[in-house]
Amino acid sequence: MKSTRVALAAFAAVGALTLGACSTAEPGEQEETGGEEMTDDGGEATDDGGEMSEGLRIGIKFDQPGLGFQDGGDYTGFDVDVALYVTEQLGYSPDQIEFVEAPSAQRETMLQNGQVDMIFATYSITDERDEAVDFAGPYFVAGQDLLIRAEDEGTITGPESLDELNLCSVSGSTSAQRVVDEYAAGANLIEQPGYSECIQFLTGGQVDAVTTDDIILAGLAAAEGSGSLQVVGSPFSEENYGVGLPDGSDLCEDINAAIQAMIDDGSWEEAVTSNTDGTGYTPNSELNPPEMRGCSS
Ligand code: GLU
Repeated sequence: MKSTRVALAAFAAVGALTLGACSTAEPGEQEETGGEEMTDDGGEATDDGGEMSEGLRIGIKFDQPGLGFQDGGDYTGFDVDVALYVTEQLGYSPDQIEFVEAPSAQRETMLQNGQVDMIFATYSITDERDEAVDFAGPYFVAGQDLLIRAEDEGTITGPESLDELNLCSVSGSTSAQRVVDEYAAGANLIEQPGYSECIQFLTGGQVDAVTTDDIILAGLAAAEGSGSLQVVGSPFSEENYGVGLPDGSDLCEDINAAIQAMIDDGSWEEAVTSNTDGTGYTPNSELNPPEMRGCSS
């Protein structure tokens, strides 16, 4: 684990020089690694003549309203709010954060090759992913569900009613994997790179349902408006959203403490409420706010 970390850090440091933005520094190391590299690289100066301190690249989703959403230069959603709270506790101001799109299928790779420092992207903690990357958290627990056209209410009531119907999900998501593993004999799964493509297929009639986590589906349905799409409302999994970190990261404990502080001071509740407002979504109160799991050493 340790040697992997050194190798990855060295690789990522080359990336930082080339790209001039990616940080491999732990919060306490910012000045040591950040300043020199920026100077060697021709350095960007701040308005007051000082050196620009190095920031963090955070992977989020760009197409999940209420969770991770990009609109021009604006980034909104619960994942964004948690990311900003946690990174502030780690010593970074919002202007040191660069949000980068982290599609479901690319999250492990992006952490492994240093394209991002952390991921807050409805990223379920699973044993398989845990082999490749580290996780802090969880900071939310959702459940997999189905989104259907309103006219199919009562007809499609769960994954078992999808026999011979077309179902859209996103490649690299636990949602698509669960359909392959558990419902392959029934539904005809169509995988897409992102959730916006699945919504187009659902509204266009090419698929009968979209499956992923209930909180994501609620945001997508609300953004579509007009009540034309509905979340079935019978979740059939537990999705623990973790903060993705490169394997061997030292930040898990500090991030868990920051998430706990966000829960304790009411900011977590506020972020959940403001980001799900108008969607009709209520988090499962038996699972939320979640308990932090331990950090592996
Ligand atoms: N939480 C699930 C996952 O991590 C589905 C949502 C997503 O694709 O991000 O795969």
